[in-house]
Amino acid sequence: MEITEFKKFLSTPRQIVITTHHKPDGDALGSSLGFLHILKGMGHKVTVISPSDFPSFFDWMPGRGDILLFPESIPEATSLVRNADLICCLDFNHLKRINELGELVAESKAVKIMVDHHLDPQGFDDFRFWDTETSSTAELIYRLAFDLGLQERITAEVATCLYTGIMTDTGSFRFPRTTPALHRIVASLIEAGADNVAIHELVYDQYTLSRLHFLGYCLKEKLVVIDELNTAYFAISAEELDQFTIQTGDTEGIVNYALALSGIKLAVLIIQRHDMIKLSFRSTGDFPCNLLANKYFNGGGHKNASGGMSLDNLPGTIKKFTDALVEFRQLLVI
Ligand code: 5GP
Ligand code: MN
Repeated sequence: MEITEFKKFLSTPRQIVITTHHKPDGDALGSSLGFLHILKGMGHKVTVISPSDFPSFFDWMPGRGDILLFPESIPEATSLVRNADLICCLDFNHLKRINELGELVAESKAVKIMVDHHLDPQGFDDFRFWDTETSSTAELIYRLAFDLGLQERITAEVATCLYTGIMTDTGSFRFPRTTPALHRIVASLIEAGADNVAIHELVYDQYTLSRLHFLGYCLKEKLVVIDELNTAYFAISAEELDQFTIQTGDTEGIVNYALALSGIKLAVLIIQRHDMIKLSFRSTGDFPCNLLANKYFNGGGHKNASGGMSLDNLPGTIKKFTDALVEFRQLLVI
């Protein structure tokens, strides 16, 4: 499908489902809710279905009430996916990233679009707005709105959602994809009504005391530095998460502290969740942490930010990770 066909498709009212990846982050939610407001404004019937819960520090986002959490509303979500004319897959490009919802989307006869900035798309889509050089999916939604002639629909609500997505995926406008062109987009979102100061506070300054104490504990007790490999990691057990009553989202950002250490090229957060171990990788410069995540931990992502999982126990996962580092030694020591 070409963009002109997609534009024509949107010229009559449609039943639309928007979905995004497991444990949605600010970009997944910001792009989904931004697109929801644009499409609703055109008169379409739109629902966002999230494959899982997400951090409560996104509960303030406009349109939050229009999000169905798949595990809590399987019959309703199933019927919406089955009857949809259009399914918009935002901020992911592999159906395995949306868990059981992926099978429903694969079976659906709806037109499927993918808007995303991750590498290696699976290819389930009929129309794709995809660019791995882009800061965020929220930026892509902004560009898509222009290409579809919908720029007038970038209301304060849309701007608020897209600003949140760009802010979170760029680490507050500091990662390499933060170009002059992106700053111009961000400026126009503020002009359209995004309250940048408030959004920053709503997302970043909402710690509970136990979350703050947990951060202190990780920094003081859990940071392991492998000097000779310019690598630092945290490995956190399920008991430790329980001890600090850690909620979804409370571990967000911790991995970046390991990268803040001078000389560190690779930072990793290994977390024992109830059903598996989740790994978050961050790197600087040319170190491709997505290759490490993909080869050893069934994951992927971007060159400097990726994730994966392990079904082994915590000591076994740590060993697998430290063994894997040996293979990447050359790239870590240069
Ligand atoms: P995070 O560490 O914040 O969960 O994820 C960082 C980046 O890696 C995000 O861009 C995310 O999309 C990607 N990512 C995280 N976990 C996985 C995974 O299990 N598989 C793949 N393919 N990508 C992941
Ligand atoms: Mn993203």
